[in-house]
Order: sequence, then structure tokens, then C-alpha cells
Amino acid sequence: MSGIYIHIPFCRKACSYCDFHFSTSLNEKTNVLNAILKEITLRKKYLSTNQLDSIYFGGGTPSILSEQDLGLIINHLSKYFFWQKKIEITLEANPDDISPLKLKQWTSLGINRLSIGVQSFNDEELKWMNRAHNSSESISSVKIAQDLGFDNISIDLIYGSKFQTISSWDLTLQQAISLNTQHISSYNLTIEKSTALGLKNNRGLEPSVCDDLSSQQFLLLSEKLGQADFIQYEISNFGKKDFFAVHNTNYWLQKNYMGIGPSAHSFNGFSRQWNLKNNLFYVNALKNNTDFFVLENLSLKNRYNEYVLTRLRTIWGCNEIEINQLFGLDILAHFKKVATEKKEFFEIKKNIYTLNKSGQLQADGIASDLFLL
Ligand code: SF4
Repeated sequence: MSGIYIHIPFCRKACSYCDFHFSTSLNEKTNVLNAILKEITLRKKYLSTNQLDSIYFGGGTPSILSEQDLGLIINHLSKYFFWQKKIEITLEANPDDISPLKLKQWTSLGINRLSIGVQSFNDEELKWMNRAHNSSESISSVKIAQDLGFDNISIDLIYGSKFQTISSWDLTLQQAISLNTQHISSYNLTIEKSTALGLKNNRGLEPSVCDDLSSQQFLLLSEKLGQADFIQYEISNFGKKDFFAVHNTNYWLQKNYMGIGPSAHSFNGFSRQWNLKNNLFYVNALKNNTDFFVLENLSLKNRYNEYVLTRLRTIWGCNEIEINQLFGLDILAHFKKVATEKKEFFEIKKNIYTLNKSGQLQADGIASDLFLL
């Protein structure tokens, strides 16, 4: 089974911290949509199967699209692919786009999971982030979606900003839990150089993230959501039983996926490819039948490094038997040697290595120690 990601590269406003590919101008929308349809046709054989268990509309802000635009993409996909019975079709939606009318349209298109960009319940912080919504819109958007029958909703939250103390983060978590959603994704604020926040930080106008404070907030996140019956199945992702995100889980378990649209990534087990990260370049390349992506064939070493990087972040962990089958005995010996040197960061059960809480706090560093250079 495989999944398809569709990148919709448009947003109403540029959030101050955002490093994703998007444009706040909708001028190219029709051209981008036509290019997306053409890319789907060209790549209908990219996946080893035409059976889909997930479709994920991400961005950018896919909820900005009209019912007709989304319908066009879904109908086009259905010409080449079959939906598995329990397919998950996710739409990333911003609270200011959610209305009873839109929700009904999304349901009629088959969208059965919403990932709502709440980010914070503090209006001052939302303004600082340059989000297009306030906290009461976030709360009512979740409630309206629930009232209209959406029973698979995720919300996104960010911690680590200068607005969050431990006690305000605690209140944020209580508020999030009280919304009774099935899933929460929560990420530490990262200040990327090219963003508005990064530029201000570089000029000394915004503080850097305090690592100690964000580590404490991460531990609180993990504890409070655990008490509320969320399972931390990936470092930043928490789902109630039976509500882990199918699409993201496939990605973390190295299953194949195809990314469509500007900047989207694809993976077929042996190579990875990235579409052009510029709307005009992407559109023109598809129009002129020139290369619209960059491809990297993955060596055994690359594949092992990716396995370690993604698996270490999950409850499924790194499995000795799998490492041996996929990468061979020498690489397994390397993995075991480094993991043994770092055993205080691991829980090891039945040949499976997962990170404990202190390990999760430095997952990227531990993964890079395990990499093959
Ligand atoms: S809405 Fe999402 S993709 Fe768009 S700028 Fe904000 S964080 Fe980035």
C-alpha cells in the first residue's frame, strides 16, 4: 500500500517562523493546479501499486482551495489509483478557513481527516507568529468540525517560543486535551535563518530558543498527553489508540510515497526525489516537458542512515533483525557497537532499540552518531 502527498503552495499570510514552500499570491493558482494534474498523469506508475491507503493534502494551506479545485485533483487521482477501503484522506486546514459549508464540501469529497493548524491558544503569540486566526477561531473550528461528524482530527501546537513559560505551556496542553481530538502534533520552535523570525533573530531583535526550557516543555508535553491516553508514537506525534496518522506512519516506516506539486518529496525505496521549490519553475518545467525534479539514487549507506534517522523517532524503533536483512551484518555490527556505547539513551527489548526520554531529547545527535559516514 502506498500514499500520495499533494503540496498546495499557497497561504493567506506568511507565518513568521515558516520555512515551508508557499506563496501568498494566488496568481499562479490555476497554472499550478494544471501542472499538478499533469504531474499525476506523468507519474501514475511511480508507485509499485495503484492501491492507496493515504492521500495527504499539505502545504502551504490546502484549505485555501475551493471545493472545485480539490475535487479536480481527487477526481484526477481516481483515474489512476484505487482507494483502499479504509483510506485516510487528510487535509491540512487553518482555523480561519473552516466553516460548516467547507466542512460539508470536504466530507463530500471523501476527506476524512483534518490536521488543523492551531499552533497556540495565546492571541499575542498568534499575532507574533503572523497567523491568520485567533485562539477562539481555533477552538470553534475544532468544535464545528466535530459537530459535523469529523472524528479524526489532529491539531498542531508549537512550544519553545518566548511567550511560553512552563505554566503557560501546561495551560495550553490542558486546553488542547479538552478539545478531545484524536491526534496532536507538537513541534519545538525552530528559528530558520531565511524566515522573518530568523532575520530578526540574526539582528538581535528576537531571542533564540532556550534549549533548557524547551526540553522541559517537551517532557511536560509527553507526560500530560500520556496521562490523557495519547500514545507518543513518534517524538512529535501523539495519537489515541487506532488514530496514528496512516500517511506519516508510512513515511516513518520507509514505505513508498509519491509527492506531487512544487517542493514535494517522493521515495520509492531506492531513490528520493524533490520537485522544484518554485511555483513558476515547476509550472514551466511541466509545461515544457523539462525536468521538474532532482533525483538522488540512495546508496546502501544512505538508506541505512535514513532508516536510523526516522525509525529512532518512533515507537517501532530500530530492529536488529531488520537491519541485518536490509543492510547486512557489517552494518548491523556498526549499529550495535555505537548503540551499546550510548545505551543510557535506549530501551532495548527483543532486539528492538527505542529511545528513552533523555534519548528523545537528543534524537538527532544520537542518530548522527549511528550514521555511516
Ligand atoms: S500557514 Fe502553514 S505553510 Fe503557510 S506560512 Fe503559515 S505555517 Fe507556513
